Amino acid sequence: MPVLLPDLVYRDRRFEPGLAVEYDAATGLVTAVREAEAVVATPHSRSVADAGGGAREVGSDAVRLPGVALLPGFVNAHSHAFQRVIRGRTQWRPADDSISDFWSWRDTMYDAALRLTPDDVYHVSRFCFVEMLRAGITSVGEFHYLHNDHDGRRYDDGAELAHRVIAAARDAGIRIRLLYVCYATGGIGEPLRAEQRRFATPDMDAFVGAVSGLAARYADDPLVSVGIAPHSVRAVARDWLRPLHEHAALHDMPLHMHVAEQPAEVEACVAAFGLRPVELLHEEGLLDERFTAVHATHITSGEVALLGAAGSTVCACPTTERDLGDGILRAVDLVRAGASIALGSDSQTVLDMLEEMRLVEYHERLRRLERVVVTGAADGDAHRRLEPAPLLLAMATAAGARSLRLPAGVIEQGHPADIVAIDLEHPVLAGWTPDTLAALLTLSAPADVVRDVWVGGRHLIDRRIHASQEDAMHAFRSVSSRLAERA
Ligand SMILES: [Zn+2]
Repeated sequence: MPVLLPDLVYRDRRFEPGLAVEYDAATGLVTAVREAEAVVATPHSRSVADAGGGAREVGSDAVRLPGVALLPGFVNAHSHAFQRVIRGRTQWRPADDSISDFWSWRDTMYDAALRLTPDDVYHVSRFCFVEMLRAGITSVGEFHYLHNDHDGRRYDDGAELAHRVIAAARDAGIRIRLLYVCYATGGIGEPLRAEQRRFATPDMDAFVGAVSGLAARYADDPLVSVGIAPHSVRAVARDWLRPLHEHAALHDMPLHMHVAEQPAEVEACVAAFGLRPVELLHEEGLLDERFTAVHATHITSGEVALLGAAGSTVCACPTTERDLGDGILRAVDLVRAGASIALGSDSQTVLDMLEEMRLVEYHERLRRLERVVVTGAADGDAHRRLEPAPLLLAMATAAGARSLRLPAGVIEQGHPADIVAIDLEHPVLAGWTPDTLAALLTLSAPADVVRDVWVGGRHLIDRRIHASQEDAMHAFRSVSSRLAERA
């Protein structure tokens, strides 16, 4: 069995020295996390002592990792991989436009969405997933709403483009929860607009058929699973919500939905139903532990309470929310109410889960004019200091895994060997101690501190390099330059 021997392992909210992580390469699961003292590994004698003190050979599988701390792999709970291709292209506005906002950004995104061929979707997604792996992301919740061809016709296989995205994930090596999106209206009670034709879900039967087909096709792949995603209250009729939730519950799938990202969505929902979006979802029975509200940047205290009481997750995407001028997550209120907070890269403007983590805390500092605010509750130990780092790390690991209903997010026996090695020799971390390391990572360091990454025990990033990154980048560049030419 492969054994990793780092300086530190992050478990139970702190970095512990002297631990060895053993995993089974065949199953991709961690088989033991135990005292490294029991493990003897030198260049000349590679052996592992069992609990009784007897040594057994492990061949060359014991890997010393000096200068490294292991973290659970990051879980990116909300991604649209194809949007990687518009990074940098939306950061300007015509001088005669009085405003640039979410809605004008969306027009640019639609434009790119309409042009991508199935091969383009594969290449852009594969490169995006390689970039995620390099940033320490080992699981992704891919909120996939590109379904039809350029003319809005269904492909022979209605899930053609979902297959391309999944193929991209498999080739990159990342664990994926493909959140298959239901998209049927152009606004509340409005027909789809022409530029939304590639997203269209024709009817509930076709949607359920596609989801079931995807789940069956990848049932044997431990790295691929499927979930359900009504796009938003803008894009799914109210009477579709309950059946979608029933299907998710029946098949034990997560259910994700964009919620209250923009004030205009809230206003339209109130005008149509006399209810704000979270209130509507509560009325329709959607709020529970399998539900994740993506963004939820415009919610009232009453909606915070509903999400918390239901044990639902809010997936914050702070780098995207910052980029789009969406607003600030009520992280402190949500944590106090009992909601779980996960994190997503969403539009791929930035791919750095450490930055997503720190913005949850820093945005709240700016709003509240206080420091050290997203800390969770005290655990009864009066001497324990309150600090954001453990909760921020949990958002990007265990809470993300909970949101996607994946067994990832921790380094523990029986869980996937999805592991990130942090480079303790990186200049940004100079001066670290076991006590300050979590704060340095979550509040100061860039994703470049990620040195090595394993997914299901596969060593995919080796000293910051993915074996197919050159090939993936080359293919991505040709898609990108072709789109630029036609722009
Ligand atoms: Zn999104």
